[in-house]
Amino acid sequence: MFRKVLIANRGEIALRILRACKELGIPTVAVHSTADESAMHVRLADESVCIGPPAYRQSYLNIHEIMAACEITGADAIHPGYGFLSENAKFAEILEAHGITFIGPSAEHIRIMGDKIEAKQTAKRLGIPVVPGSEGGITDEDEAKKVAAEIGYPVIIKAAAGGGGRGMMVAMTEDRLSEALHTARSEASAAFGDSSVYIEKYLAKPRHIEVQVMGDGKGGGIHLGERDCSLQRRHQKVWEEAPSPVLREADRAKIGDICAKAIQGIGYSGAGTVEFLWENGEFYFIEMNTRLQVEHPVTEMITGIDLVNEQLRVASAAGLSVNQSDVVINGHAIECRINAEHPDTFVPSPGRITYYHPPGGLGVRVDSGVYQGYSIPPHYDSLIGKLIVHGRTREECLMRLHRALDEFVVDGINTTLPLFRDLVGNEDIQKGNYNIHWLEHYLANKK
Ligand code: ADP
Repeated sequence: MFRKVLIANRGEIALRILRACKELGIPTVAVHSTADESAMHVRLADESVCIGPPAYRQSYLNIHEIMAACEITGADAIHPGYGFLSENAKFAEILEAHGITFIGPSAEHIRIMGDKIEAKQTAKRLGIPVVPGSEGGITDEDEAKKVAAEIGYPVIIKAAAGGGGRGMMVAMTEDRLSEALHTARSEASAAFGDSSVYIEKYLAKPRHIEVQVMGDGKGGGIHLGERDCSLQRRHQKVWEEAPSPVLREADRAKIGDICAKAIQGIGYSGAGTVEFLWENGEFYFIEMNTRLQVEHPVTEMITGIDLVNEQLRVASAAGLSVNQSDVVINGHAIECRINAEHPDTFVPSPGRITYYHPPGGLGVRVDSGVYQGYSIPPHYDSLIGKLIVHGRTREECLMRLHRALDEFVVDGINTTLPLFRDLVGNEDIQKGNYNIHWLEHYLANKK
């Protein structure tokens, strides 16, 4: 195992990683910006190093400072969490060149999956079903028209370097294609510094279903079932659950097996998520994330497997602690992403938490870095914590979630807790009857 792990992240995920390290007896180093001096991950880590000013480009994305912190503290591995440097192939390469372990897949795998065009081609080659669309990138209008006519409207134009739900434009008909293509290209260029785009069929009412995989880097790999993340706002996940309320056991086993074989085929190392849209019983690959996901806890709750512990094991060459037959799905889990935002307008609400009382009891887990008296800095995303609830059945899980949401008190700032209190009592949600557009419609009708 590692001598010391540096956690190159902040907030709840830094704490989540720290917990896994502590349980393995590995000393931890927290890095932080000047805005995060009083953050919980800084308080709980064995050592901490300030790496720069509040702006994340100068701190959490500052590779030089993070490398210096590694050298000062003698850390021999870095866990990047999610976001920030977690899917930065260059960072993984720099670490390797310095003999520091990047707790994640190889730089090559990050690079392949980071380019969505290449990712899709790779997925197809590995036997994963993909959304019908262009073979590669699309640059000119005539080519776009030809592909769109072949696959049929509506189509979606997506940035090859896209992420976080940005850089996507839908064209319902051919007369909107040219505008969509140009807007997507300029948005992609502004947001990601890369104007490459591709076209795929725009699915009308799909669900977002993703498969958690874990590779040992030596050709071994397993899947840990799926998560249904169809409740989204602006293509961003809001509520996630596992298992999906709509999947049959045979379909789960089939898609899981395809994904596990695919990662074995490329010798993938560590945690990954193969994301699909699911419509009329068919799976369509959209992308692969080469890191731990925000919503990983629902998988942990139904499998009992600590994914960060497995990441640490794989990265230190100890191998996975489980094989496919050890992965047994037990009950149901739901995660609500609690943001410091107004529940109706979603306007960020940084500031001081004057009172904080998280829920507890059987089957209730709160992954959060906040505490009473803590001031949420305005410089970062607004996720302040995740409420994850487990039950023996989906019904029990929903009842428990209802109860836990009632107990949860966060005063002094706005949070999205009231939104979840509404959602948990909604009939469609209770029946599991929703797709990727459901939440947007629900919010629009609420106004
Ligand atoms: P990102 O990397 O920005 O998260 P994804 O490719 O994972 O982008 O897509 C994010 C979300 O956008 C999906 O969960 C879905 O809601 C929507 N989306 C993406 N591709 C399509 C498509 N072909 N048809 C319909 N919706 C799509």
